[in-house]
Amino acid sequence: MYLKKIEIQGFKSFADKTEIEFTEDITAIVGPNGSGKSNIADAIKWVLGEQSVKSLRGNKMEDVIFSGTDKRRAVGFSEVAITFDNNDGVIPIDYSEVEVTRRMFRSGESEYYINKNSCRLKDIRELFMDTGVGKDGYSIVGQGKIDEILSNRPEDRRGVFEEAAGIVKYKTKKEESERR
Ligand code: ATP
Ligand code: MG
Repeated sequence: MYLKKIEIQGFKSFADKTEIEFTEDITAIVGPNGSGKSNIADAIKWVLGEQSVKSLRGNKMEDVIFSGTDKRRAVGFSEVAITFDNNDGVIPIDYSEVEVTRRMFRSGESEYYINKNSCRLKDIRELFMDTGVGKDGYSIVGQGKIDEILSNRPEDRRGVFEEAAGIVKYKTKKEESERR
């Protein structure tokens, strides 16, 4: 499984629809300060269901919608879609390509889609659980992640290994059933 493509429209500095294609090899994104490199990583976290505005480097969720410049009016909604190659079946769904989409209007409501079918955020969370992908998955290594692995509380450190071992799904199901 690997990230094949990301389409960004109206998200942060990406006013126009922007498409970036990735190959199975390494892709590095370079550019001057403030050109939008980190916004791409934010877009990936956001589409996978990030709800914390702080972790998206904003003050309110609306901050992810393109807010306009001197020459350009603000837009009304933000949309990000990411496509994974799933020929190896790591994502537990019967498709060789998996596209996840999130759209949000200024009212704050988010819509989510898996392969263009409307779904809940919970469905996306469950689909990517134990794959390493996801807003808390180890495939996104942010600045704080290394600290988490090295020095934090043992429970946090264990979480990283649980995700890698593929047991988070079962643990979550157990917790859910215990809560009922
Ligand atoms: P650095 O090299 O300093 O880390 P970077 O390439 O990672 O820079 P980003 O943090 O991705 O840069 O982009 C910051 C830019 O995005 C700023 O110019 C900021 O004004 C712009 N930006 C952020 N949110 C919005 C928004 N909602 N609407 C318009 N522009 C935005
Ligand atoms: Mg940056």
